Parts: sequence; C-alpha cells; structure tokens
Amino acid sequence: MHSGTVLISGASIAGPALARWLGRNGFDVTVVEKAGSPRPGGQAVDFKGATHRRVLDQMGVYDAVAARQTAKTDWRIVDESDRVQAVIPGEFIGGDLEILRGDLSDVIRGVASEGVEYVFDDEIVGLRERGDGVEAAFARRGTERFDLVIGADGVHSAVRRLGFGPEKELVQPLGYWYAVASGTAAADGLQTHLPSGRGVAFGYNVPGRLALVGGQKSPNLFVFSSTGEGYDRHDRSTQLRLVEEAFRGLGWRVGAMLDACADAPDFYLDALARTRMSTFTRGRLALVGDAGYANTLGGFGTGLAIVGAYVLAGELAGARGDHEAAFQAYDRRMRSLTKIARTGNAGPFLAPASPGRIRTRNWSFTNRLMYRTMQAMTDRFATDERIPRYPLR
Ligand SMILES: Cc1cc2nc3c(=O)[nH]c(=O)nc-3n(C[C@H](O)[C@H](O)[C@H](O)COP(=O)(O)OP(=O)(O)OC[C@H]3O[C@@H](n4cnc5c(N)ncnc54)[C@H](O)[C@@H]3O)c2cc1C
Repeated sequence: MHSGTVLISGASIAGPALARWLGRNGFDVTVVEKAGSPRPGGQAVDFKGATHRRVLDQMGVYDAVAARQTAKTDWRIVDESDRVQAVIPGEFIGGDLEILRGDLSDVIRGVASEGVEYVFDDEIVGLRERGDGVEAAFARRGTERFDLVIGADGVHSAVRRLGFGPEKELVQPLGYWYAVASGTAAADGLQTHLPSGRGVAFGYNVPGRLALVGGQKSPNLFVFSSTGEGYDRHDRSTQLRLVEEAFRGLGWRVGAMLDACADAPDFYLDALARTRMSTFTRGRLALVGDAGYANTLGGFGTGLAIVGAYVLAGELAGARGDHEAAFQAYDRRMRSLTKIARTGNAGPFLAPASPGRIRTRNWSFTNRLMYRTMQAMTDRFATDERIPRYPLR
C-alpha cells in the first residue's frame, strides 16, 4: 500500500528513526542531510525507563544498541588538587543504556533501508505549501514535491525556520552555554578507565562554571553561565573567546582544556536552549526531535527524539492519509512527554551558581534517599504509559 511521499530533513537520530517506521509502513521516504556523510562518534546519549525501552524493542534495535553501549562513566567532582568532593554515578549521567550518537545513528540507519532514500550533502532552502503537497527547493537538486515535510534537523532546524518562524522567536536561550572539544592532554595523569571497565570523568566547579575532562560526552566539556555577548554562530573565533573569557585563569586543568579547544577541529559551542512551540505541526509540516522539543544537555533529548518519531509514524500510519488528524494526535500525545524539555534547565545542576549550591548538589549524591528520589524522577520524566503500542511493522 502506498501511503504518500515524505521528506525528512536531518539524518542523525530523529530523522532515521522516523524514516525506519514510515519506510516499512507504506510511505516513500527521502531523508536529506546537510553533512557530506554520516558523522561517526559524537557525544554519548542515553535512554531511560520503560517507554524508551519499549520503543527500541519494537524498532528491533534494542539488542544492537545494547551491544554498542559505552561503559558507565562516573563523574568525580574534584577540587583544584584533584581531591574528590563528590561522585555522580554513571547510572545517573548515562541512564539505562548509553551509546555514542554516531553509533546510534548507524544502528538505526542500518534497519531503515526499506522505502528510504538518503541524500547527503544537500539541504532544503525553500518550502512552499500548495493545496495537496509541499514544494521543497534544495540547494543542489532543484525543486521536488512531497506530501509531507518533517524537520528532524536539530536545535537550529531549517524546516522550523522556513515553516514555523524565526529561530530567535521560537528558541529560548537558558543563560548557560556548553562547549566540547577533543584532545586528551588535560586528562594527563588521571585514571579515566578503571580495571572493572568503568570510566571516570573529572569535573571542576566554580560558581556558574563546570570544566570536565575524560568523559563520554566529550574529552573536554565546559558548561558556563553567560549572556553570550559577541557570540556569532558562524564565527569560531567569537566562540573560542566566549569560553576563554569564562574560564581563563581558573587553574586546575583548565589551561590545557582551553588549549585543546583552540586546536580541536571538532570544537563546538552552543547555548543551552529550549523551544517555544505551541504546536509541533503546521499545515503539511511537522517537527520531531530537537527541532521541535530541544532540551540541550538535559539528558532527555535522544529518548524524546525516538519516542516522538514513533508516535508521529504511528499516528500517520493509522490515519490512512488524513495527515491533519495524525498531526493533531501527535501534538496532543507529545505535549506531556516534552514537559521536561519545556521546563528543565541542566545549567544550574551542572554549574551551580554559588559555593553553597555546589555543596548542596554534591551532597545530594552522598545521600542515598535523595539520590534514589532523583533517579526515580528522571525515569518518570522519560516514561509515559499513555503512549499507545502502535501496530507498526
Ligand atoms: C554534549 C552533548 C551531550 C548530550 N548528552 C545527551 C544525553 O546524555 N542524553 C540524551 O538523551 N541526549 C543528550 N544530548 C542531546 C542529543 O544529542 C540530542 O537530543 C539528539 O541528538 C537529538 O537528535 P535529533 O536527530 O533530533 O537532532 P540532532 O542530533 O541535532 O541532528 C540533527 C541533524 O540534522 C542535520 N541538519 C542540520 N541542519 C540541517 C539542514 N538545514 N538540512 C539538512 N540537515 C540538517 C544535522 O547535520 C544533524 O545530522 C546531548 C547533546 C550534546 C550536544
């Protein structure tokens, strides 16, 4: 049965997940990705709780994801002499199942081939809705018509900008920034792998700032509060300056970490942000994953991307061509699950604003009851038993 043509922008997590479901359930799917090829590695992302597990199981990828999961990595929060102040367990940081983003994308693309065409090194530059479809103009391959267009192209989504409104109105920065860079020099002399196979990352906090070396998220991770003054998304030098200004002179291993940023080809900086969407759909367009819900560094983005793709595909497949009904149901169902993305901000947890708040955050990991409560809360945020089990192939 042919159910229609769908263009998906973005081939990281949400895009391939949606393509896998739609391709196997009667849709002709094209996935367009700006990058020239699939990007390997990347930071570790994770899954938590019953809903994530159920969706991965039904997708047929749970075992493959488990086989490629990373070792659990504890975060040791240390003082300037590397003396341990607190340990944030790997289970809290990495959920039930943690995997590098590039590996996860590989696994999902591996099962998504039926009815799906991947186009790398191209992007949508214009969208025009006509009564019975959407004309998408590409940077390289001209203009084509699709029944539906889905933005799975991340926090800086082009589909959202072209179809829903400007980023500055729909994405709200949260006052915190993060930067990542490869390079191991800053972790010299630290034991980042235990004989048991567990990893260890080392974090140094001063008010409003966290510098972390040796972790799965990135060998060098910075989180800091800032207004972002002078930041230009397309100018690396303004980005390096922002990190320099926040961290220069802090001592510990920060000097070597900053040197790593200056040298690293993969240095990346962005604001922690959330979207301000009243709906994730408009006409024949929809958003899934970070493009719709954002949640940078909140620890829920990947699970939301996977569940969102499942719900959208389930509703579209069940609606027999009535995309309006499917989009309404998708919007309704994702409202409660994305609450964490609309309200959470990982900045104050990772980089508490005062010495007292740093101590309180550290204390919560030495108190068993408090820790168990926090763990249970994260599972609850990630789980929604009202998500139906769709009869999808
Ligand atoms: C340092 C760090 C740590 C993280 N840790 C966790 C974690 O522990 N747990 C967790 O659940 N999540 C974590 N996340 C978040 C997680 O990475 C995202 O939530 C998840 O990747 C969302 O997937 P996505 O497919 O929606 O978007 P993305 O992974 O952002 O992918 C968007 C894709 O679209 C492509 N693209 C962009 N623009 C265009 C365009 N114009 N045209 C075509 N393609 C385009 C991009 O190249 C990319 O491939 C972390 C993120 C970071 C940065």
